[in-house]
Amino acid sequence: MSVLALDIGGTTLKAALVDAEGRSDLRSSAPTRRGDDVVADAAALLAGLRDQAPASDPPQAVGVVTAGTVDGDAGTVRHAANLGWRDLPLAALLAERLGLPVGLDHDVRAGAAAELQAGEAQGDMLFVALGTGVGAGVITGGRAQAGAAGAAGELGHMIVRPGGPLCACGQRGCLEALFSAEGLRRRLAEAGRAEVPDLAVLPHHPDPVSVAIWRDGVQALALALHNATMLLDPARIVLGGGLSGWGETLLRPLRADLAAGLAWRSPPELALAHHGPEAGLHGAALLARNQLADTPLADVAHGGTARRPAAKP
Ligand SMILES: [Zn+2]
Repeated sequence: MSVLALDIGGTTLKAALVDAEGRSDLRSSAPTRRGDDVVADAAALLAGLRDQAPASDPPQAVGVVTAGTVDGDAGTVRHAANLGWRDLPLAALLAERLGLPVGLDHDVRAGAAAELQAGEAQGDMLFVALGTGVGAGVITGGRAQAGAAGAAGELGHMIVRPGGPLCACGQRGCLEALFSAEGLRRRLAEAGRAEVPDLAVLPHHPDPVSVAIWRDGVQALALALHNATMLLDPARIVLGGGLSGWGETLLRPLRADLAAGLAWRSPPELALAHHGPEAGLHGAALLARNQLADTPLADVAHGGTARRPAAKP
């Protein structure tokens, strides 16, 4: 049975038709606009995929993930500044236009559930999405934690340098101002690097000032992960999002910094996301399947369909 998945990103809407085996050969995307235009574009992308689906296996449900403060139970986006949304009943709007049940949740939280399902079924893990901004999906006791106001996991706005650079959120010294695509670009520009280097090659750039800004950012990330480790004791920290494309170039110094900072306990395992930058889209597909199973995302993450060790005879 196939489903439709949609990831509403800050710059791109990504949609896919996902079959029962998790394959998603049929995809489409569009640039992200603002306000009602995003809803219209999302509905058009999803309807296009629905109409191209094989007649023998039409999609049965839709899963949608987005940034912002999201109330998954109500199907509402409480607030998403970049998209210009406040108290938007997104699930109901899309369900009405598509004639299919629609599940909605936060992109990083859904990505965390997808990573939990794809991995070794760790009950306590932290999924960190490193992109334009930084967010985390907190899984404790096998459940994705939303927090009291749906705003848990704002790792990007954890203060790691008191009095440090101003963050877009208004605070100073947030992780995101030191280590995110946006934060790194801003710091490079402020350091007089008129031509900001391509971030993909930043760690190996010949300019020592540019490399020092990157290295400083990695140290800030290590400090944030140190604090998260102290608070949550995760078995595993999984890195996703576009900046995780640095792979071992990022993991090596990050592992070393994290281990060096911890005096009396061993660091949690650090790994790259199974789904790479597509964890959100896979989380959306998981949400869609939850619609059919009538099970909340966190419960599915907990083990409804999560991989378990094979029973021993
Ligand atoms: Zn901030």
